[in-house]
Formats: sequence, structure tokens, C-alpha cells
Amino acid sequence: MSLTILYRGPLSSCNYGCTYCPFAKHHETDEEHAVDARALEKFLSWCETRKAPLRVFFTPWGEALTQRRYQQALTRLSQLPHVEKVAIQTNLSARLDFLETCDPKKVGIWATYHPDWTKEDRFVEQTERLRAKGVSFSVGVVGFPKFRSALDSLRQRLPSDVYVWVNAVKSSDASYTDDDLAHFASVDPLFPLNNARHPSLGRACAGGHTVISVDGDGVARSCHFIKAPLGNLYDANFEQVLKPRPCSAATCGCHIGYVHLEYLGLEQVFGAGILERNPRSEVR
Ligand code: SF4
Ligand code: SF4
Repeated sequence: MSLTILYRGPLSSCNYGCTYCPFAKHHETDEEHAVDARALEKFLSWCETRKAPLRVFFTPWGEALTQRRYQQALTRLSQLPHVEKVAIQTNLSARLDFLETCDPKKVGIWATYHPDWTKEDRFVEQTERLRAKGVSFSVGVVGFPKFRSALDSLRQRLPSDVYVWVNAVKSSDASYTDDDLAHFASVDPLFPLNNARHPSLGRACAGGHTVISVDGDGVARSCHFIKAPLGNLYDANFEQVLKPRPCSAATCGCHIGYVHLEYLGLEQVFGAGILERNPRSEVR
């Protein structure tokens, strides 16, 4: 069976300090880095021994791609014949030399542009490196109205075939005017889909069947949003617990979750770029 794993180890530091960061700011000690490295190594070894088709998506609590071990993880996984895709969420600040040793056709990059923490020129240059390598990627911003001009400027700088998403802020941190909504939708045709909490209770979702989330201890869950564990990835016969199961949450409001909600039909919209949020060309 083909399996997609959203991996989130203990690493939670970041070289940026966005005020709107949903994750706790934390500076790892050497020992904490060592714990994260051991967890990652165990996960990579497991991936190497599972010979059936596999897709891996690193969704860290912070910024992982600046750490050499995660760059090497992308290289290692992309070179495995049974790995179909290895993707990562990143602020795209890291050096990208590691792509030289990856199979770029299997790498996916979900890059978030944080206008307060990087220069547009630098961010655009980084996307040009991804394009030159033939890596599948998407870029986007957190959808605060204050970022409208930065978003527009970025959109203008990038080729039209680069998908630029806007991540809707669904908390009370942002309130949208009709003009904001229309503007964001004019840049990202999928913004209205993202700016919704999709009813999911009892609905069919690939979470817990062909898609799971896994933490640094190997604890597997249906997704990042359902806390009940399914078991431990590293236990023998773990995969026997994977089966079709209805969602137990009322709604699903995050792209990395609802893309697997069957009734939304988003496998067809995103195709092979589903993990890195890169839709088929006709949608961009
Ligand atoms: S780049 Fe991402 S992880 Fe880092 S501070 Fe900003 S939102 Fe948080
Ligand atoms: S619909 Fe969302 S919350 Fe429910 S199992 Fe799927 S990913 Fe998880």
C-alpha cells in the first residue's frame, strides 16, 4: 500500500521570529538537537526499510531546512526508488546547494514568504534556484491584509506558472473586508477554499488509512489535528491498524489536512503536487 507520512519531530527552533508564528519560539540546546537528530535518523532508517511506495512531508514546528540533517534527509529519501515524493515546509532561507545531491523530480518545497524577515529579492532568487533545478514548489504568504502589497509585488515578480497561495488567517488576529477577500482570491483562486473550515465529522478522509502523521517518538495519528494515537510506526505490524475510517473532528481547516478529505476532490486539483501545495497547471 502507498503511504504518505507527515513527519513532525521535536525540532522547534527557527531563524525567523514572526509575531504571528503559531509555534512556540525555542532555541534548541545541543542535547535537544541530538534528540531531534536521533529521532530523524530512526525515521529515515524506517523509510529505507519499508519497500512499498512512500511519500514523506516534513511539517516541522519551526524551520528545519536550515539544519544540514534535514537537507541530507531530503537527499537520502529522494534517492530511494520506492519514495515517490519528499516535501518540506520552509521559509526558504536555507542554502539550496543540497539539491545537487537530490533527485529533484521527487522533491517538493512549500515555501512561505515572510516579508518582515526577508527581502523580496532574496526570496525570488531562491525560487529561481528551485526552478532551475526543476523542483516542484509553491510559495505563499500568511493572509494578513497588511501583506497585500508584499503579496502583489511577489506575484508580479514570479512567472505566471508559479502558484502563489494565501493562507487564510482564521483566528481573531485578522478580519477581512470584502475587498480583502476579493483581492486574495484574485491572486490565489483557491483562497476561498482555504478560508473555510470544512465539515469533516464522519466524512471519509485518507487520514488514518493512506496518510498519517508521525512524531519524533514514532507515535502515529490520523493527522496533526486528531490527538488520539493509532499506534507506533516502529512497532512490528503497525500498518495493520491502517484502514478507512471516518474523521472524528467536526471540521478541518488546514490545507495539510483537508486535501485528504475525500468529498472535496482535491487529489484531482493538486495531483502529484498535493503535499507541497502545488496544483495542476490549469488551476494556477
Ligand atoms: S518562519 Fe515559520 S516557523 Fe519561523 S517564526 Fe515564522 S512562522 Fe514561525
Ligand atoms: S478531515 Fe482533517 S481532521 Fe479529519 S482526519 Fe482528515 S485531516 Fe484529520
